[in-house]
Amino acid sequence: MSSKRILLSESEMPKAWYNLQADLPEPVPPPLHPATNQPIGPADLEPIFARALIAQEVSQERWIDIPDDILRVYAIWRPAPLVRATNLEKALGTPARIYFKDESHSPAGSHKPNTAVAQAYYNKQEGTHQLTTETGAGQWGTALAFACSQFGIKCKVYMVKISYQQKPYRRSMMHVWGGEVTPSPSEETNAGRSILAADPDCPGSLGMAISEAVEAAVTSGNAKYTLGSVLNHVMLHQTIIGLEAEKQMKIAEDYPDVVIGCVGGGSNFAGLAFPFLRHKIAGKDIRFVAAEPQSCPSMSRGQYRYDYGDTVKMTPLLKMHTLGHSFVPAGIHAGGLRYHGMAPMVSLAAKLGLIEAAAFHQLECFEAAKLFAETEGTIPAPETSHAIRAAVVEALKCKQTGEEKCILFNFSGHGLCDLGSYDRYFAGELEDFAYPIDRIQAALAELPVLE
Ligand SMILES: *Cc1c(COP(=O)(O)O)cnc(C)c1O
Repeated sequence: MSSKRILLSESEMPKAWYNLQADLPEPVPPPLHPATNQPIGPADLEPIFARALIAQEVSQERWIDIPDDILRVYAIWRPAPLVRATNLEKALGTPARIYFKDESHSPAGSHKPNTAVAQAYYNKQEGTHQLTTETGAGQWGTALAFACSQFGIKCKVYMVKISYQQKPYRRSMMHVWGGEVTPSPSEETNAGRSILAADPDCPGSLGMAISEAVEAAVTSGNAKYTLGSVLNHVMLHQTIIGLEAEKQMKIAEDYPDVVIGCVGGGSNFAGLAFPFLRHKIAGKDIRFVAAEPQSCPSMSRGQYRYDYGDTVKMTPLLKMHTLGHSFVPAGIHAGGLRYHGMAPMVSLAAKLGLIEAAAFHQLECFEAAKLFAETEGTIPAPETSHAIRAAVVEALKCKQTGEEKCILFNFSGHGLCDLGSYDRYFAGELEDFAYPIDRIQAALAELPVLE
């Protein structure tokens, strides 16, 4: 009988990250300065990011060594298991073989520490005393607080005020790891004070929290800012997921026909997909499916063009699939997927026809998540449920055609801090939101015309 869980020993953990930039048939378009619309150079980013991370952002090297100190922290939970979802296969009655890479075992419960640990390490190397960031639902903030605690750096998180009030447990996790959490907008920054002056009861947004975190980084000594998705160096750090999965598929004597991940900013999808994407570029026949919400369909309905990363137009412009920086997605429970843009590397791969997108409604995703929990045990994060839904759709196609395909998806995180969402799902309080065509068109009409 073949194994259910395919495990690697610590010594088999990959020792280098894979950089897809080395193999993409076209270069990733450079970021543009928000004031001049001209390409920005590394020096422009130095007040905000660690130099090593800026270098990784533009690196064309295929393999980038993972420093030993990072491998030692990864070893707390890595290598992560690859699991054959035999019970789910049986429940679906599919001839397909379904595997998932289980990223839910990290201290924060998701894939995000893969990059948080790397970012904290390089900042520590360069003498950074404090890292700042924003967090919505709290997943990125918890990952960064954990990573900072490992390297003895202070962590300052601006958490969207409404989430700060509604998601107390992620806030508590950050406190346990020594992170300082401030509800945003706050009185601590010029950005926050001006927002509060206009609207004292403002519930906050990710765009506002980004403004506060960047301001805090550039105005306090020895502080830098960090981002949990979207940027090239984040995609790079996440490739440890796919590199492990590649070894594990070999042990299972199998190989994926389709690779699936949910996409918010694109990092967990890229992490699993990019190492396999290099096989596709070399001629292998694999499909890649990026699963996103119907209410925030950046890949399937957005345009590939330059746009700001944030609502207030402070960040550089990135060439990406976007719904427009002013687009505000409906309040779905997969908070990590409510982003108007997409990683430039994932966007370019989509433009080149290497990957495809699929959009799902939240109710069908919760239904798939419940089936997964009942069969494979772990309760998925609402974000992850989109990847599960996409895998179920592929498996049911195989049931119809009789094809014995191999499906591999990324289990990006558990949902133990999202049980309130499940309560509301069972109470019948969740709704599907129609594809918001009017609001997307209005937001796209506001984009700068640069080409
Ligand atoms: C943050 C998050 C996501 C979305 O972010 P990506 O950068 O698209 O991966 C997905 N799943 C979980 C569990 C998350 O925490």
